[in-house]
Amino acid sequence: MKTSTKVFFVRSKEQNSCPCCNGRLKVASSCRRICIADGGTRKVLVIRKLRCVECQRFHNELPDILIPYKRYDRESIESALVNQSDSHVCADESTLYRWRRWFKEMADHIRGCLAAITIRHGKESVEDKSGFPKSKLQRIWQYVGDASGWLARAVQPIVNLNLWQHTRSAFCP
Ligand SMILES: [Zn+2]
Repeated sequence: MKTSTKVFFVRSKEQNSCPCCNGRLKVASSCRRICIADGGTRKVLVIRKLRCVECQRFHNELPDILIPYKRYDRESIESALVNQSDSHVCADESTLYRWRRWFKEMADHIRGCLAAITIRHGKESVEDKSGFPKSKLQRIWQYVGDASGWLARAVQPIVNLNLWQHTRSAFCP
């Protein structure tokens, strides 16, 4: 199979200070990460590894089309989580199953972090005002909305605060 692969350089506008100590970040190195987009197109993303000049910790720039440690782009994963019988996502059944299981395991952590971030920013908790039972997905939507990009909006603040649960260690997100 012949596929053309495009290379994209990731430059984040938000991540310019250390999420741990607010120190200045310097570019330390970069790594390549393959991302599979909807329709099966492969992209190579060049992601910079940043180092804090104060606390010396490393941080990766995370573009909003990626979820840490996932090869498929955020849009495909988002769509598979929302539409349980989705057929247009270019991934096999076992991949779709893994995403859904991953989300089920992560959902409470994501929601807990979003709740903590909301309180930290001095906002009132958005938790359950209606009293109706809600799915894990709907409870996350209460914080980030259900418009396209919700998964990035949920994941990025957590990653930026270094609260993301790493299921395995790797140098590249
Ligand atoms: Zn720092």
